[in-house]
Amino acid sequence: MFDYQPLYERLIQCGAARWAEILPEQLRHTFDATTHGDLPCWLNTLEQLPVTAPSRCDLTQARVTVGSSDDLTEGNRHYLQTLLKSLHPWRKGPYELFGIHIDSEWRSDWKWQRLQGHIAPLRHRLVLDVGCGNGYFGWRMLGEGADTVVGIDPTLLSVMQFHAVRKLHGAAPFYILPVGIEDVPYGLRAFDTVFSMGVLYHRRSPLDHLLELRDCLVPHGELVLETLVIDGKLGEVLVPEDRYAKMRNVWFIPSCASLLAWLQRCGFKNCRLVDVSITTTEEQRRTEWMHFHSLADFLHPDNPQLTVEGHPAPTRALIIAEAP
Ligand code: SAH
Repeated sequence: MFDYQPLYERLIQCGAARWAEILPEQLRHTFDATTHGDLPCWLNTLEQLPVTAPSRCDLTQARVTVGSSDDLTEGNRHYLQTLLKSLHPWRKGPYELFGIHIDSEWRSDWKWQRLQGHIAPLRHRLVLDVGCGNGYFGWRMLGEGADTVVGIDPTLLSVMQFHAVRKLHGAAPFYILPVGIEDVPYGLRAFDTVFSMGVLYHRRSPLDHLLELRDCLVPHGELVLETLVIDGKLGEVLVPEDRYAKMRNVWFIPSCASLLAWLQRCGFKNCRLVDVSITTTEEQRRTEWMHFHSLADFLHPDNPQLTVEGHPAPTRALIIAEAP
């Protein structure tokens, strides 16, 4: 279905052969049409995408750009737009594909801008992006010269969006696997940089997540961690009793001091808090490419500093740390 052979070879080469061995079986399971009813429809959409070689690609700008509007006839461009819209909702972006602007729910380029000046240069690095969504950040990593990017995300629709962009772009050392961090074998110690952005608060056991991330990194490799935080002192952490901003699966939201202490406890060195930003309704909003409710619907109608449930509104911290 998708050719992951070059990835297996790269994993073997970097000492992650144990993962390469079990991946075909993991993928057979997740790409099984009986596991996910929408899969045949998505595959059909991918099949119909044009195979025109893009006249230009630019992975260094806010909009991940593949091709230009002149590369396709107007009719074909219109058809491409219909195909891409059938993969709704587009949460991460923006993209510009053969002149079609995918205005995603998130201005993910803003997050990239916040971290760009702080991370170790990605040139020649082997990168793992945990919870990569449709791969927006992975393209930006390639734009920064990363050797190979491996993304993992259990949401199959996001993986399909990635394959749509990848088919339009053409071959690239970038792979997204429809698996979770729990499917990555322990102790690989193979990746130079590991990103985990927007994932930690979805994990019921946040320290175990940090240990899993540490285990993916080579000695002295770099972790780029982004997660929800609360304003508070060392030791403070919010565990919502029910939903948080209407999300059912939010477990631990620490203060920055608590988060730094967790990282140190897990053996990370040189942990630096490089940014704290309140998420605005300009950064996360409903668009033509994401029709569902978005941040404005999750905030308290009388007080935008609170979620509808009365918790502190979403604020995100970015931390860089070094593996032992
Ligand atoms: N990293 C992106 C996406 C964050 S949304 C960003 O910062 O914008 C969180 C993503 O984590 C979702 O796409 C979700 O499918 C994914 N996710 C949830 N559980 C996961 C797990 N166990 N392992 C890896 N990814 C997971």
